[in-house]
This record gives sequence, structure tokens and C-alpha cells, in this order.
Amino acid sequence: MTTLWMLAGVTVLAIVAWRISRARRRARELREPFPEAWRALLARVPLYRRLPPAVRERVELTARRLLQRVHFIGCAGLAVTDEMRLIIATQAALLVAHRDPRAFDALHSVLVYPAEFVVEDREEDEYGLVTQGSRPLSGQTIDVSRIVLSWEDIEAGLTSDDGYNVVLHEFAHHLDHLTDGALTDGGKLAPGADAWHRTLEAAYEALCDAVDRGEDTLIDPYGAEDLTEFFATATEVFFERAAEFRAAHRQLSAQLRDFYGVDPADWPEVAR
Ligand SMILES: [Zn+2]
Repeated sequence: MTTLWMLAGVTVLAIVAWRISRARRRARELREPFPEAWRALLARVPLYRRLPPAVRERVELTARRLLQRVHFIGCAGLAVTDEMRLIIATQAALLVAHRDPRAFDALHSVLVYPAEFVVEDREEDEYGLVTQGSRPLSGQTIDVSRIVLSWEDIEAGLTSDDGYNVVLHEFAHHLDHLTDGALTDGGKLAPGADAWHRTLEAAYEALCDAVDRGEDTLIDPYGAEDLTEFFATATEVFFERAAEFRAAHRQLSAQLRDFYGVDPADWPEVAR
């Protein structure tokens, strides 16, 4: 019995020592300059190239912390490369550039598929009729600990400024999940925070009306699905087509600028 207790004690001590040394190594890494080789890999990311130096520094720090802690898991035979991890982490970090670099610490893993992946769906209508089906997705935020992404769709988002960016989309959902949906569910908002929801709701209703009228919209019509999708799709456009977004949605743009703490409409344009 004594031997067993001693063995357990030694194991616990070994784990504690390992954790302390890992924490020290991580802290040391975060103090080192962002590797130039990584910056070279990120040259493919137009949003990264546009970052003002002060914002870039914060984005790099958060991206690095995310890379240290989050498990990137290749699915359906995909081998996740350093470049993929960097491109995902850096774009995600854009959303929390002005926050604590620990903003994404709840996230445990990012699962990456080579292309769209299929999820099983089960829907029950108001009469209790259940429809079973499947649908292809380019991204999915399962809960606060897991995000699923399609690499093909991430790459497609790098080649044009069409307001399509699945990384920004899913990590915006992640931020919403971290507040238990309060960002998009007015009923869950803290007292006094209803101005946020009023602005979001008004812009959402305007998108729904425009989609109903069959108009072309700056925000993806998928945003008319519900307020959570609206917040995620509006976030994509806020970053990717910032100047047009500010001109077309002045109030929402100002609200997202305050929320994300950056104004991409002011960042210099770069050739794609
Ligand atoms: Zn979504």
C-alpha cells in the first residue's frame, strides 16, 4: 500500500513538474519575435498583409498562444501543415486583436477536412414530424471547445475579397458561444446592453427584407437564416469588405468596430 502511495505521489510530482516546465517554455516562446518564416507563409493572407504594425503584433501574439494550446486535427486523410495552422490561427486572432490573448483558451481542437464535410441532420417541425437528412458544410462550431473547418473553403476565402471567410465566420460563432449566445440572443443580454441587440436586430430585419425582395446584398443572404448566422456573416464582411460595409451599414459597422476593437476600413489595401 505504502509503495502504491509513493508511486502515486511520484507520478503527481512528475506531472506537476512537466506542467511547470511546459508553462515556462510557452511563456518564453511568446516573448520571442514572431518567426520570419511564419510571416512568409502568411503572405497568402490578404487580411494579415493589411494589418497596421500595432494590430499585427497583437494578432501574432494571440495566434501564437492559440497554436500552442489548440489541437489541429486533420480529418478524412488530411495532413494538417504548419501553414494551415498558421492561416487559421492568425485569421481567428483578428477577431480578438484588442482583447486578452487568452480569449480563445476555451477552445480545445480545430478539426480540418480537405473540403466540405457532411453532417447528419434531424429536424422536428411544430407538428412533431421528424425529417432525417444530411447536408454539406464548410464549417461548424460544435460547442466552445471544437470548431470544424473545410480547408478548400479556407483557401477559397484567400483568393478574393468577396466577403467570404469561413475562419472568421466560425470563430465569430465561437465568441457568441463563449457568451452562451448572449451576443445574438437579446433575451440573454446583460441589463443595459440592449442597444447592441437593437442595432443587430434592425440590420438583420433589413437583410431579411432585402432577401425577400430578391435584391443583391452585401451581407451573404445566408445571414437571414437567424441572428447567430447574421452576426457571423456580418463579421466576414466587416473585415473583408470593410469600406463598403461601413458605407452601407454605418451603425452596425460602428458597433462591430467597438466590439472587435479594430476598423479594417482604415487598413491599407493590398494587391491580392
Ligand atoms: Zn454559421
